[in-house]
Amino acid sequence: MTAKMTAKSSPSTESFIIDPQSLDDLIHALAASGYQVIGPRKEDEAVVYAPLRSAGDLPVGYADEQDGGKYRLVKGRDGVYFDYVVGPQSWKRYLFPPHQKICQMRKQGKVFRIVEETAEPPRYAFFGVRACEIAAMKIQDRVFDNGAFVDPGYVTKRQAAFIVAVNCTRAGGTCFCTSMNTGPRAADGFDLALTEIVEKKRHVFLLEVGSPAGAEIAAKIPHRGAAADDVKVASAAVDKAAKSMGRQMVDEVGPLLKRNLEHARWSEVAKRCLSCANCTMVCPTCFCSTVEDVTDLTGSNAERWRRWDSCFTMDFSYIHGGAVRRETASRYRQWMTHKLSSWFDQFNTSGCVGCGRCITWCPVGIDITEEARAIRESEGRR
Ligand code: SF4
Ligand code: SF4
Repeated sequence: MTAKMTAKSSPSTESFIIDPQSLDDLIHALAASGYQVIGPRKEDEAVVYAPLRSAGDLPVGYADEQDGGKYRLVKGRDGVYFDYVVGPQSWKRYLFPPHQKICQMRKQGKVFRIVEETAEPPRYAFFGVRACEIAAMKIQDRVFDNGAFVDPGYVTKRQAAFIVAVNCTRAGGTCFCTSMNTGPRAADGFDLALTEIVEKKRHVFLLEVGSPAGAEIAAKIPHRGAAADDVKVASAAVDKAAKSMGRQMVDEVGPLLKRNLEHARWSEVAKRCLSCANCTMVCPTCFCSTVEDVTDLTGSNAERWRRWDSCFTMDFSYIHGGAVRRETASRYRQWMTHKLSSWFDQFNTSGCVGCGRCITWCPVGIDITEEARAIRESEGRR
């Protein structure tokens, strides 16, 4: 882990109260400090992560309804900033972009020479990061920054990123972060953390400081000290979210799947699965990619691009002679057992943080928690 990541992992020590109008000051303070602020915005009837200029860009007054294969933005409480949970996008699209140029070569005389990349990597401030999403970033850190294999593009952006977390006070219909121990409260991994407190007579945010960089930004915006009661109220609101998770993952799911690699359920789910790869695209931890080389029409300029790929595509497991995982059943099994079981062998962590996106955005509503439960129940246990 990098020094910056370690600094963010220490527990927060200071708490303040800020008024809703100070969210604007916070966004402006981040921008004035050289960050490109990215946060939730309403676009095409969904909450996506895009550049923020002010708090007015946030989807104020919206909530979401989520279920297997279903997502709807609906009216939330008037003036409330964070009544929705997670949408189709995750922060990985900024740290590990869907389509990224890896290198460029230009012909000089008879040889190709590498063109040096001179553009500075962006310094992002991610605004409104949920606890499960911080957990997902930590998982991707193990993939892209694990000592043996380091992706310098990812690491540079990750180290420079400023994280403004938002503790969830409402759980979505497909959320199960409590089962995965990743939320709904962000315990660490942030610079600043907000909890929205909405009571009859007041609407404020508890602001927790999680790093020296967070303290510097907090000092630039209007704030007052938080009382013990403020911390209690905020904590109760997050506890309420923890008790209203839309889904639950069975316990000891890793060993369960390992024992059941030949279970009939894999063929059952394959009858519904379209192998469309939506689940892997929306997942904040999936990291499969492929590499494409392109040249222009003159033949003197060549580029190598990395783009997201998925274990659900036939080509992904192609080696000489054909694809290894030809059947949908084997591709679904590969995905689910990797997420929940063999990821532990590979990275010493679960590959799933319980965000629920793969359930919501599966066009046929396949539910990873329901699949695990079906296998568990076939063993005679709940
Ligand atoms: S597997 Fe599904 S629930 Fe788990 S992190 Fe990925 S998208 Fe979220
Ligand atoms: S599980 Fe759903 S989202 Fe994933 S590949 Fe199958 S149909 Fe697509």
